[in-house]
Amino acid sequence: MIRVGCMKYGLLVCPRCGMAKGVEASKKTTTCQCGREIDLRRVKLKYMTDSPLELAESVAKANAALRGGQQLPPERKTRKKEPYFVIAERARSVKDPVERMKVIAKGLTDLKGAFGVDDVRRVVSILGKDSAEDVIKILQEHNLVYETVNGGFRAV
Ligand SMILES: [Zn+2]
Repeated sequence: MIRVGCMKYGLLVCPRCGMAKGVEASKKTTTCQCGREIDLRRVKLKYMTDSPLELAESVAKANAALRGGQQLPPERKTRKKEPYFVIAERARSVKDPVERMKVIAKGLTDLKGAFGVDDVRRVVSILGKDSAEDVIKILQEHNLVYETVNGGFRAV
């Protein structure tokens, strides 16, 4: 079996029923819901990941695609995600606008130390919500960020 880095989980397709299943890469065998025992050393795991959440997601996608009679979706590249994109993704799930801006401010502070309007703009352009100027304004109004000596901002 080929291991990619130290990725813990992978997806396999059952040779009997054809359904995708998520497994721990360190296991030797697994039993499919159809009852078939699968030797993990004989199958190639796909969509290797360290995240159980990502694993569940790719299993769900693969099974939806299989049920629809389609090909498996193209394997996701394992390159590191662009950090602004990661922050935007994290913020996207937050419904409350102020909370969402707080997530952006926290993410950018962790990433950069202090961030500027342009950094906020890069995140909100991915989100397609709010303007960078509004985000800064609202964050300041709620005392969620403070301005640094260099004119940058940091989350409180
Ligand atoms: Zn099966």
